[in-house]
Amino acid sequence: MKDAFGHELAIGDRVGFTTATERYIEKGYVKRLTEKSVIVAYQYNPSRIQREVTYPAKPASVIKLEFQEKPPAIIQAIKRAQKIKEERGYEYKYWFVDLHRCIITPTYNSKNKNAEFYPDAIKVLRHLTESESDVIILWTSSYLGNLDGIYEKLASQGVRFNATNANPFEESTELCDFSKKPYFDILIDDKAGFDGESDWTEVAKYLGV
Ligand SMILES: [Mg+2]
Repeated sequence: MKDAFGHELAIGDRVGFTTATERYIEKGYVKRLTEKSVIVAYQYNPSRIQREVTYPAKPASVIKLEFQEKPPAIIQAIKRAQKIKEERGYEYKYWFVDLHRCIITPTYNSKNKNAEFYPDAIKVLRHLTESESDVIILWTSSYLGNLDGIYEKLASQGVRFNATNANPFEESTELCDFSKKPYFDILIDDKAGFDGESDWTEVAKYLGV
C-alpha cells in the first residue's frame, strides 16, 4: 500500500509491527499528516496501552519507526502523586482502594463467597502495607460487618489497611473540606477506569515489586 504521498509503506525492519501498522492505517486510524510528512497512527493493543506510532512518510528503505508507549492512567497518577509528595515534602501517599473488581472478583453475595483475589493486587498491597510512606485505605460500599473474612484473608497475606472509607489522618484545611470527600492521592477503583485483571501488573512493574 502507499501513503498519502505515494510512498510505499512496506516497512520491513520491525517484524510483527508492519502488518499491525498497515492494518490500522487501512482501518483509518491515521490521525494526522503534518507539514513534515509525519503520520501519527494510534494503535490499541490487547493490554489496553495506547501506543503512539510516529514515522516519516519516506520510501520504505529509509523509514524508521519510533515507539512511544503511553503508560496507563493509574501509573501517571502514581507518578504525579510521588512528584507532589516530593515537591511539597508530604510524609505519605494515600491510596484509596476499592474492593470489588479491584482486589477481589465480584461475587454479588454479601459474604463474598467464592471471591478470588487478583494475585498482583496482593503483591502491590503487601508492598504498600510494608512501606512507611504509603497509607492504604479500603474504599467500599460493602457493609463493614460483611468484611471480616476479607480483612482476615488479606492479613494472612500480609495486607493491612490503615482505615476503611475515611481518611482520619488528614483534616480539612483552610483551602479544602475533607468532610465529604476525604483526602487521597491515588484512587484505585474500577469505576474510575481501573482494571483489576490487568492494571495491578502494570503497577507492580512500575513499583518494582
Ligand atoms: Mg468496584
